[in-house]
Amino acid sequence: MPPDGGKEPLENLKDKLRSLFGNKEPRKNKDGLPPKARFSIWYFLVAFLLFSYLQQSLFSAKVETIPYGQFKQYVAEGSAGDLTIGPENITGTLKFGEREPDQRFTTIRVNDPDLVKDLDERRISYTGHYESKFLRSILSWVIPIGIFFLIWRYAIKKMGPGMGVMSFAKSKAKIFAESETKVTFADVAGIDEAKEELEEVVGFLSNPGKFQKLGGRIPKGVLLVGPPGTGKTLLAKAVAGEARVPFFSISGSEFVEMFVGVGAARVRDLFAQAAGQAPCIIFIDELDALGKARGMNIMGGHDEREQTLNQLLVEMDGFETNKGVIIMAATNRPEILDPALLRPGRFDRQVLVDRPDINGREAILKIHSKDVLLAPDVDLRKLAGRTPGFVGADLANLINEAALLAARKNKETVEPADFDEAIDRVVAGLAKKNRVMNPQEKEIVAFHESGHAIVAESVEHADPVHKISIIPRGIAALGYTQQQPTEDRYLMTRSELLDRLAVLLGGRVAEELAFEEISTGAQNDLQRATDIARSMVTEYGMSDRLGLVTYERPRQAMFLPESFSPNKTYSEEKAGQIDEEIFRVVEEAHQRVRGILSAHRDVLNDLAHLVSQNEVVRGEELRKMLGKTSAG
Ligand code: ADP
Ligand code: MG
Ligand code: ZN
Repeated sequence: MPPDGGKEPLENLKDKLRSLFGNKEPRKNKDGLPPKARFSIWYFLVAFLLFSYLQQSLFSAKVETIPYGQFKQYVAEGSAGDLTIGPENITGTLKFGEREPDQRFTTIRVNDPDLVKDLDERRISYTGHYESKFLRSILSWVIPIGIFFLIWRYAIKKMGPGMGVMSFAKSKAKIFAESETKVTFADVAGIDEAKEELEEVVGFLSNPGKFQKLGGRIPKGVLLVGPPGTGKTLLAKAVAGEARVPFFSISGSEFVEMFVGVGAARVRDLFAQAAGQAPCIIFIDELDALGKARGMNIMGGHDEREQTLNQLLVEMDGFETNKGVIIMAATNRPEILDPALLRPGRFDRQVLVDRPDINGREAILKIHSKDVLLAPDVDLRKLAGRTPGFVGADLANLINEAALLAARKNKETVEPADFDEAIDRVVAGLAKKNRVMNPQEKEIVAFHESGHAIVAESVEHADPVHKISIIPRGIAALGYTQQQPTEDRYLMTRSELLDRLAVLLGGRVAEELAFEEISTGAQNDLQRATDIARSMVTEYGMSDRLGLVTYERPRQAMFLPESFSPNKTYSEEKAGQIDEEIFRVVEEAHQRVRGILSAHRDVLNDLAHLVSQNEVVRGEELRKMLGKTSAG
């Protein structure tokens, strides 16, 4: 066996050939660059030169160059024949009788006016030869041009599609054919409300005829709104996968190019491609990159992005939904989108893709740990409980981290200890983004939100509680209590305002009662409470002590500093009274709320524990605990 690991010579040769001709296999060398493949054009050239050199030397071995004198001698002997007489040399064949093979020869021509006469005398056949200068010069042009063309083609190919001059207008949208989006709704968990809303879209795409017959209006555009990593892209793919239709996806940032007009051309191209494949889904990821409100550009003028956006609007308007093309888009910043995008007939349906609650997180963990060997004592439910605020992408990351840690320690299965370490790692990353709470914070927030909710259910005029949640969202709000207005309001009575004030203070008072200690979490509540109290006193004339006088005009000059706006229409003395009065209103509300929550102390405790356990509690459950049957 040869010493070099037993590789057959043939194998070695194959390897070399592969590297010569730019094999697609991404074999990496030390520097991490793809190896010789990059230079294969040079190998080609070297091979070409070698070949032509060999060819020439082979020919020259066969064609013997002889002096002219010797040639004349052969002519005299009669052994030369089949002459070709060119302007510079003479070639021909030497015949040495039967035994020896004929020998080609060539000789440099000298000025010999008698040559033709000699040849004629000996009856040697000859012919003239004109060497074309034209052909030569053509070749000397064509070959370099050809080589340059090859190099250019090669370079363009290396740069990848979309970078060549010719391919600017071609959309970079990747076309996932039906078989390629193998994602289905089974791969998506924790965002059941969004899934339900999209089921209708799936129904339409898989059977467009049924909907058209009934004359129903199909949504043209569906906008998925939610924080990063909650599974918007995944969900869009799942819709395509469920409906078994092609999925065209492109990212908003890909549209925005340096060259003016390219983005618009891409949009046109994308829609044209999609129209040919209906029914299908066009998915525009990161719509905000493209769809920022027009006119927000500080530099002014029509910039490239604006043109692209306009083209998108035009294409969306020109699209008949019954062609079976549904446009989906995703964004985590819906507030900066151009309002034109949200108009009816465009992205008129918006689907909220929210952070998952504890059950959702458990389900997501289950999906992502399908192919991971878990130790039997790993409890996914417990893991879900320890990861409030995690989105789907974080959870997928968590499982992956844990698996890597276990592998590094050569374990057979992924153990709870690995998850502990992985959580620490992932949390460390997320803590910087303010997205996780420690257990103590969680407890405080649970009591705080429960306080809001119980007060809202106890006072007469507050809207019924829809749900209480302590899933962290954004930077400011750690939790929220969502109330559902029962009607639109234009006027509010005094007692309604007082009730609203009470609900706002509920969070703070619950903290007081439960911990005899207060946190900074109520800052926003207190500010809003103070605003309400101030308005009651200074604008609505609702204070007995100050009477029916309005002390403040509604602010108009928003952009002017305080001193410019002539708001202050009262004396310093009155100002002191106003402050006292505001304080009195808030303090009365405070005492009232203390009364309410003290009376419901048991419910407060139970509810807070339920909230910190489940993270989301529905209004009905609270009403049951309070012994109420219906909302009110
Ligand atoms: P988004 O588009 O909202 O930023 P992605 O759809 O790109 O989020 O999610 C990234 C990855 O995180 C997905 O490929 C998937 O592996 C995981 N993931 C996110 N959300 C979910 C979910 N709800 N269910 C299962 N996996 C999820
Ligand atoms: Mg995405
Ligand atoms: Zn609050």
